[in-house]
Amino acid sequence: MFADVRLDTLNIDLEHVRSLVTERTKAICIVHYAGVAADPFAFAKFCEESSIRLIEDNAHGLGATFANKRLGTFGAMSTLSFHETKNISCGEGGALVLNDPSLVEPAEILREKGTNRARFLRGQVDKYTWVANGSSWTMSDLLAAVLTAQLEHQSDIEQTRLAIWSRYFESLLDWATANEIRLPHIPEHARHPGHMFYLRMPSQMARDHFIEHMRSHGVVTVFHYQALNQSPAALRFDADPAACPNSSIAAQTIVRLPMYSTLTPNQQERVIEAALKFKI
Ligand SMILES: *Cc1c(COP(=O)(O)O)cnc(C)c1O
Repeated sequence: MFADVRLDTLNIDLEHVRSLVTERTKAICIVHYAGVAADPFAFAKFCEESSIRLIEDNAHGLGATFANKRLGTFGAMSTLSFHETKNISCGEGGALVLNDPSLVEPAEILREKGTNRARFLRGQVDKYTWVANGSSWTMSDLLAAVLTAQLEHQSDIEQTRLAIWSRYFESLLDWATANEIRLPHIPEHARHPGHMFYLRMPSQMARDHFIEHMRSHGVVTVFHYQALNQSPAALRFDADPAACPNSSIAAQTIVRLPMYSTLTPNQQERVIEAALKFKI
């Protein structure tokens, strides 16, 4: 089942989730969109009361907090991505963070091609064998070395990105207000890691015009995330394509500005100047 997002943060809407939960619901997966917390205390409380597991997709939120508690530590498990588009990257890869000790062994088996090799390496069994489903999900040493170097610079990367984020926000605020363009909303207590800077245009047409306008000034801007409940795969599982109107609006109106830690102040100035020339 797919739940809709809220229009302020574009994070999953707890009220909609409540209306979808049944006695067959096993887990709720929340995404901290743009690394901005998706109301994690409220979701954790709801899941605990309903005996449902909370999973956090924290691909955008490594380093982020809510009320000083790290995103990715509210649920039974959370996932991280080290894809090339993420704050900390080794090209491809990710991590599963487990907060429930009973999940560690099943996860080890999944990672080791369905075998109990991890137990064997700890000397807990005298040979290892195939015990359950799994795949080959260990990270190679070479990628792990790249990742380690990135993690050692996590705080510099985050500071640089946050400085870029703030500069966009401050430079574009008046222009956005005058043109009915919405800038990201950061709720109180949420601290994000500067993962992305996105604008929400008043319509899909305005969004498409903006992308074209920026391209004519030599700046590539992109939209992203189609509503999953309308995807071909979801429709095969009987998803209702009309169930998540806010997600559809977001899919039609979001545009992302260039955001990466090697973006220089001059380059960012060019992006801002080009954006300020755009009028609805
Ligand atoms: C990037 C991303 C993923 C996928 O990460 P991979 O490392 O490619 O598996 C999942 N969820 C969100 C929200 C993402 O942005």
